[in-house]
Amino acid sequence: MIKRVLCLILACMLCLAGCCERGEVESAFGAEKSGLPLYGLKIGIDPGHQLKGNSEQEPVSPGSSQTKAKVAVGTKGVSTNRPEHEVDLEIALELRDLLTQMGAQVLMTREKADVNISNVERAEMMNRWGADCLLRIHCNGSSDRDVHGMAMYVKSSGDAGQESFALARCLLESMGEATGAKKIGVFRRDIYAGLNWSRMPAVLVECGYMTNPTEDTLLSTPEYQRKLAMGAALGIAEYFGGAGQR
Ligand SMILES: [Zn+2]
Repeated sequence: MIKRVLCLILACMLCLAGCCERGEVESAFGAEKSGLPLYGLKIGIDPGHQLKGNSEQEPVSPGSSQTKAKVAVGTKGVSTNRPEHEVDLEIALELRDLLTQMGAQVLMTREKADVNISNVERAEMMNRWGADCLLRIHCNGSSDRDVHGMAMYVKSSGDAGQESFALARCLLESMGEATGAKKIGVFRRDIYAGLNWSRMPAVLVECGYMTNPTEDTLLSTPEYQRKLAMGAALGIAEYFGGAGQR
């Protein structure tokens, strides 16, 4: 399974690099679409934030009286001076293309910056669509410029809590391996509306720190973004290919 996925990812890399069309990749590997590693899966991608934050409040989880801003502003690159929402979207689009070529159906919560979609609305969009899993793509920030690395956040309980943790572990391993980034860990937190409202396995992927000069530059580099996407795609394939998952 893993060997086959790696072959297909290699093919997808070539395709993304513009060497050949998608059809050629499939025929080169003699693969019907139904034979692709992620065929039949519906994968949601939520690129974090948007052009402008929205400080209006919404419940942090279903039935909760605790509220949170509908969309936070996000962090900013100390080297690139770029807003997080731009980098999140670039990584997400790379991932969308790769997953699609691996046979998955993909739904994005946004494909441009100028939207106004709250975190609860993003989760509900995926619930309605019936996503098999959801990746929320973010970049991290810290007051300490030395802090760097990759971290995954999941909710601690509720719908698909355990499955979310298992998916996050697959993602951390494969994305860390693909990029060489420090693997900080998988954390259970119940403070994210976008996770709490999701009914499928959902992971908030913090790809790296935009407050670390070196990592910030990497996060805006197309080659590094491709590695992030490949690692995420492989992590998803491993999760759904794992015992009893599919
Ligand atoms: Zn963010």
